[in-house]
Order: sequence, then structure tokens, then C-alpha cells
Amino acid sequence: MDDIREPAASHFDAIVIGAGISGMYQLIKLRELGMTARVFEAGTDVGGTWYWNRYPGARFDSESYSYQYSFSQELLAEWDWQEHFAPQPETLRYLQHVADRFDLRRDIQFSSRVASAWWDDKASTWTVTLETGARFTSRFLITAVGPLSAPTMPNIPGVDSFKGEAFHTYKWPHQPVSFAGKRVAVIGTGATGVQTIQEVAKTAGQLTVFQRTPNWCTPLHNRKITPEEMQRIRADYPAMFQRCKETFSCFLHTTDPRGTFEVSEQERLAFWEALYASPGFGIWVGNFKDILTDRAANKAISDFVANKIRQRVKDPVTAEKLIPKNHGFGTRRVPMETHYYEVYNQPNVTLVDINETPIRRITETGIETSDAQYAFDIIVYATGFDAITGSFDRIDIRGVDGVKLKDRWKAGPETYLGVMVDGFPNMMMLMGPHMALGNIPRSIEHNVEWVSDLLGHAKAHGVKRIEAPAQQVQDWTDHVKSLAEGLLTFEVNSWMTGVNSNVEGKQVRIVARYAGSAPEYRARCDAVAATGFKELELA
Ligand code: NAP
Repeated sequence: MDDIREPAASHFDAIVIGAGISGMYQLIKLRELGMTARVFEAGTDVGGTWYWNRYPGARFDSESYSYQYSFSQELLAEWDWQEHFAPQPETLRYLQHVADRFDLRRDIQFSSRVASAWWDDKASTWTVTLETGARFTSRFLITAVGPLSAPTMPNIPGVDSFKGEAFHTYKWPHQPVSFAGKRVAVIGTGATGVQTIQEVAKTAGQLTVFQRTPNWCTPLHNRKITPEEMQRIRADYPAMFQRCKETFSCFLHTTDPRGTFEVSEQERLAFWEALYASPGFGIWVGNFKDILTDRAANKAISDFVANKIRQRVKDPVTAEKLIPKNHGFGTRRVPMETHYYEVYNQPNVTLVDINETPIRRITETGIETSDAQYAFDIIVYATGFDAITGSFDRIDIRGVDGVKLKDRWKAGPETYLGVMVDGFPNMMMLMGPHMALGNIPRSIEHNVEWVSDLLGHAKAHGVKRIEAPAQQVQDWTDHVKSLAEGLLTFEVNSWMTGVNSNVEGKQVRIVARYAGSAPEYRARCDAVAATGFKELELA
């Protein structure tokens, strides 16, 4: 490491990158441990995902109350949720309230994007450099960068030449954007595109949706929470959080133990009708146990949802375009929608299938496809993220002997429990690759508490250096890969399998996500903690 450290460089016990849900909670735990900490955050306030994604229609699709922090009874007692699936402004307000309540901002440095983090093996410290050039050192480096925080623009020629207004949904302006009477394009039909489209369609003069791959969307069924209902929901918190601990991916919905064809057709259809009419992810994660492993079962549920789309979209040609043909229901993230399909019955909305008529380029005035020139006032890019590893790749992270994490992970991530990597001592990842995702705050709380127990153990035993042994990293990585075998999800291109058509080198599917159950994941981690972290090298 060429050491041109600033004389006044500040040193902390721990540096945390990111002030989203995981970074905020980690800061609280570091304080409890009596450790000095600094959080570096690129944004101007807390909130992470909910700070950046201000696009119209952005909201949770997990039940609000199941998504909040559960670690503080006072916090649970004082925050009332307004909607079953909170919109982004409400969620951001909640996170700002948490920051106020726990006085977090005094240890968070905003507008500070981390450019690099280099390990110094002699000193057993990390040197963190911001894009401004400012340098800081710490004993521990905790990444809280989120799995979906490196937005990607489409690799379409001319993308910078448009003279109207253009926004990536992630980098949405803080001032409201008016679509009233405007000619608007949306490129992308993932969960973000779907939320954006159904909102923009309400006011746009003309909305043109450019779709490459349709997704299987199902109704969210959001509604407001009355004060009396909020009282009942709050009274149920202990049972609700316990349920989230027990379900496969920490949602309120539990997988049905029956196989799709173990019940009569009548019973099957009645069950699916009930799921389709129920709020949230039930139809995806509360369905028959085999819909994501058995091809015939997956085809049956796909046919059911396809028929719903046909019933809801009046023009049969448009309906067919909206029905996915290259992947089955649930094998990619299911976008939750509110009147999404009905949008295509509106006279001001047009669907362009860019497989039929590919986009040739973005022009100064709009979008040129193989058969038309479209003029727009606003182009919205809902084109997604360099997911899971992308937020790490854009920081120059170097471990022992200057090895770059990006190079180490070129063929896919290798981790120990999703938390550590050999050769990168004292670096702990929150919501890193190979970790149970699902209802993310539930996983975050466990993740942060496990890391904090490890740091507490290190403090109590005078440990200065923690490293995951290479064999443990190999074993966990092999285990995560084996869990992906036989799952239909891993046969499909999506951010969940590490594919992004806009990023060089990310066209091949990898196993970046832990596909086992959250309870199994937590049990494995807790067993390690119970032995005094014997699997790790502590020095
Ligand atoms: P995404 O699912 O990756 O979707 C990106 C969309 O852009 C896809 O339709 C993709 O088409 C299209 N696209 C990308 N590059 C393109 C190009 N060069 N030309 C044309 N089309 C292009 O990203 P996302 O919608 O932002 O969602 C990411 C994840 O964020 C979600 O799966 C979800 O986990 C999370 N999310 C959560 C919520 C919530 O909870 N409330 C809301 C929004 C998002 P292809 O499919 O053909 O690549």
C-alpha cells in the first residue's frame, strides 16, 4: 500500500459504509459495544434504498409492520403505520424518525462516497478513502451497501443525447416531477417499472412502455390502516415477529406443505383464487411447496396467472405480450401491482415489445426503434441494478497482499456465511452475497446482531484480527451452490442470478444468493457464535 495517509487521519474502531437500514442498526449496536464508529453515506440523509428510490409509486411490498425494526419496544410502541404496504415517503419518514430517536446522525458523515478500502496487514487496520480524497482508518470495516444500490443505465446507443428530462428510477430527483399532459417513456418492466408505470399512467398525456421481458405480476391489495386496526396489529407484534422468524424467507406468509397435484383441481383453483385475492406475497411464497421445483406444478400456476392477465387486459394481442413466455411464475422476483394490467386498457398507454421492434438508439428527441421514431418529453429508465456484488465492485476493496475483492469474485462471490471472505480480515458484510434475503429487515437484524456478537467477543478477548479460513469459505460457498441445484429460479436470467445485460462480464448466471431457509441460515450462524466463533481465525 503506498502510504500517503493524511497526518490528521481519524481512526475509529469501526467504519460502516452505508446509512440504510443495516448501517443504521449497526451503528446503534457499535455504540452499545462502546466502540467508536463512523458511518459514511453517499446520500444527504439516512434511509438507503428508501432515500434513493423516490420514483412515483415506490412502496413496500412486504407488510409495513413486518418490515420495521423490532429491536426497540419503545420504537414499536410509538410508530403507527398508515398503510399495509407503506409508500416510500412514509418509510423514509420512519427511518428519519429512527435516526432522530437514537441520535444517529452525529456519527454519520453524509455526502461521502467511499472510493476505496485497503487492508494494512502490518497495522491490522483498514484505510478508507472517500471520493473527496479524505482518509480514515479503522480496526473493522463493515459494509452495509445493500444488494440493490448500484443502478445501471441501459447500454443503448445515444443514451446521453436526449435533450428532454431523463431519470433512472434510483436517482430520482427530490423535487416532484410532473407528468401531466407529457409524452413519457418508461424502459423496464421489473418491480420498479411496474410501480412506476401504474402511477405515471394516471396523469401522463401519453405513456409508452418499452418492454423486453414481461414479468408475472400479481395484485398487492394495499389499503389504509385505521387507528383501531393499528391497535390490533400492534397487540399482535410478538406473535407476528415470531412468525417471521419461523417462515422460509421471513415474510408473514408460510409455504403450503401440500404439493400442487396432491389436491383436486377444484381445491387447487380455489386456493389460488384465494391467494390472488389476498394482500402481498402469499401467491409467491405462501403457495404449494413445489411450484418452484416441479415443472408441471410451475406450469399449472403460470397458466392460472396467465388467464388472469387475459381476463384483465382487453386487447388480446397486448395481453399475450404481457404474459411471460421464457420463464415460469415466481422464477424471477414477482412484481406486486395495483391495477397494472388495466393500465394497458387506457387510451393514453401503449406497449412496445422491443423483441419485435428493438430500440436502435436514444435520440435528442426520443427513442428510435426498428420501425418508428417516438418523441418524448420525459424518459424514465427503470432498468435495474448491478445487483448483490455490484455495490462492492464499485468500491476498490483490497485485502491481504493488495488482492482486489472484485478480482476475487470475478467468477462469482465466495463467502463465509455471507459475512466474511478469506484474505479480507476484519471486513464484515451486512446483506452481502450468499445471505438469506427475503423480508430484508428481518434478515438485517439477525445479521447485525451476529456481527455485533463477534465484535463483542473480539473486544472481550483482545482480538485484533479476525479472518475466515479459506476452507470455511470454500465449504459455505459449496453449500450455497448446492442449495441452488434443482431450483427453477436458478435456470432463469435475472438480477437474482447475477445477470445484467448492461454490465460487462455479468451475462453468465452465478449463485449470488442463499436459497435455503432463513431459519436454517440463522441456526447455522448461531451455532458458530455458541462455540465462541471457533470456526474463525482470531488473533
Ligand atoms: P429489474 O427487476 O432488474 O428490472 C429491470 C428492467 O429493465 C427489466 O425489465 C429489464 O429487462 C429492463 N432492462 C434492463 N436493461 C435494458 C435494456 N438495455 N433495454 C431494455 N430493457 C432493459 O430491476 P427493478 O425493477 O429495479 O427491480 C430490482 C429489484 O428491486 C426487484 O426485483 C425487487 O427485489 C426490488 N424492488 C422492490 C420493491 C419493493 O419492495 N417495493 C420495488 C421495486 C424494486 P430484462 O428483464 O429483459 O432484462
